[in-house]
Parts: sequence; C-alpha cells; structure tokens
Amino acid sequence: MSKLIGERALTGHKALIREEALRQGFLHCGFARAEPPEEIRGFYSSYLEKNRQLSLSYLQSNFEKRMDPSLVLPGVKSIISLTLGYSAQPPVPEKDSFVIAKYARGADYHEIMKKKMDRFISWLKAEFGRARIKRFVDSGAIPEKFWAMRSGAGWQGKNTLIIHKEAGSFFFIGILLTDLELEADSPATDHCGHCTECIKACPTGALNTPYQLDMSRCISYHTIENKNAIPEDIIRHLGNRIYGCDLCQDVCPYNRAPKPTIIPEFLPSPDLMNMGKTEWLNLSEKQFDRLFGHSPVKRIGYDRLMRNINAASG
Ligand code: SF4
Ligand code: SF4
Repeated sequence: MSKLIGERALTGHKALIREEALRQGFLHCGFARAEPPEEIRGFYSSYLEKNRQLSLSYLQSNFEKRMDPSLVLPGVKSIISLTLGYSAQPPVPEKDSFVIAKYARGADYHEIMKKKMDRFISWLKAEFGRARIKRFVDSGAIPEKFWAMRSGAGWQGKNTLIIHKEAGSFFFIGILLTDLELEADSPATDHCGHCTECIKACPTGALNTPYQLDMSRCISYHTIENKNAIPEDIIRHLGNRIYGCDLCQDVCPYNRAPKPTIIPEFLPSPDLMNMGKTEWLNLSEKQFDRLFGHSPVKRIGYDRLMRNINAASG
C-alpha cells in the first residue's frame, strides 16, 4: 500500500531508496537538487558555437531543456542518478580479431536500463505514492554526465567520462527527474590528480585538451556516428577497432579491476566470443542480424560496420 508521505518527511528517505536501487542491481544511486546547471552553460554554449557537436544535432536542439530540468518536468525538485555496470568476464578475445567497444558486446543498454529503471520507478511509486517521475537514458534532453557528477556517481575524468573510485567507468547512466523532495548528496570530486594515462593512450590526440573531447578526432565518433567516409588520418589509428574505442578507459587506473556485471543480457554471445578476423571480413548481412539484432551495433547497420571493418583491415 502506498505510504503518502509529505514532502518534508521525504528528506531522510535516501538510505531506503539507495538500498532498494542497489538491491535491484544498480551500481550506484545518487541524489541532486534539480537546479539549473548554470556552471556548464558557458561551456556548452561555446561548444555549440564552435560546432564541436558535429553530427550530434540533438545537443543543439535541446539546449535550453538541458540547461533547465523544469522545462522537462514542471515542478521537478530532485534528480536521481542510477548506474549499471557492463564489464563482462571473461572478456571477448581481442587478439587476431576486430574489436567492438565493451558497452556494445551484449544487448542494447537502452532497453535494459529502461526496463530496470521502470521497475525501480514502480517501487518508488508504491513506496511514496503521488510522485511524478520521468526517466532518461541517453536521451539528449538531459546533461546526464553533469547530473551523475552532481549526485556523486563519479567525477568527469580527463577522458571526459564519469569515473567512480571503486566502480571505474564501465557503467551506463540513467537519470530520473522527480517532484519528490530528496536530500542532495555531495557532488563527486576529481581524483585524476597528476595522471595522464588516457591522454597518452589516445592514438589520435582527441584528448589533447584534458577534460575536453575533440570529437572530430575520436575513433568512437567516427566508427559509430560518422555516416560518411572515415578520414584517412583517423583510419591510420584504428588498429583493430571497428565499433567504438575503449583505449582511454582501458588504461585508467580506476578500471584496473572492474566489477563484473550481474546483468546477463550484457554478456557477449558465444558467437561473438568466437569471431576471428576471417569471420569478420566474411560477415554476411544475415550473420550481422543474428549477432547484433539486440545490440547497439545494429544502429549503424551492416554497411557501415563493413565500412569500418574494411577501413581497419586496409
Ligand atoms: S575513445 Fe579512443 S579515440 Fe576517442 S578519446 Fe578515447 S582513446 Fe581517444
Ligand atoms: S586515465 Fe588518469 S587522467 Fe585519465 S580519466 Fe583515468 S584517472 Fe583521470
């Protein structure tokens, strides 16, 4: 039965909510006040002015919404961040094969995250009644990394990804906007210190300015988002990467011992585990559908994956 708790009384229920989130399999659950993120407005404005978003046009079209959560959910008071780990053990063998990014080796995280977040929302509604809650997974309408950082899920590292001291960075982020009044957590603090491992490991110089990603130089951008030909000076650095790139995460000291995921859907299929270079080069459209029918890779389609494979093998 719903406990119709008044707004004041909701402060202090963080521990109960967090405990339930962890019980449901999330790695971390953090809370922030839903105030406009003024501190990132300047950065985003200049980013867009310089057209650094390239083909990611949603960053431009949702700018004002991203800067004011009350335009997304009127009456919003709190933001809850949830993270879900995807590091799979044993990992897919990379030697003598082509490599797709770790996050894309299992089922599409959008679907899994949404399903898990909906279950969590049902629990919140059963527990707290009246709550209005809106969820976001990689939607573009919410600056997810900012809210993850603000709610203590991790700091934004020099590789621009959210890193948690114990959990590393191999996790997905989901954000809930709610009119429940919840006490905020402390924002995460930066623990990169003097480390520059990710900058040194990036083969294209996309992280030459620490904490800023030059998307035009990023292998991940070119193998996933770029619908045109991959520039020659990026192809030179592809190595065996054909979808995304984990180099700047693999070298991060906080990713030395990632906690294996507990989500079976994030585990790679046996077929993917057994792919060698010959199998990739001879991949048929039918095999693509079978391998990636439920994976984020399906979004780029067979032709673009083959473009990447040919570029990496050239
Ligand atoms: S994903 Fe790869 S190319 Fe992009 S910044 Fe990281 S290391 Fe560099
Ligand atoms: S590799 Fe080092 S500098 Fe880069 S994100 Fe990790 S801790 Fe920060």
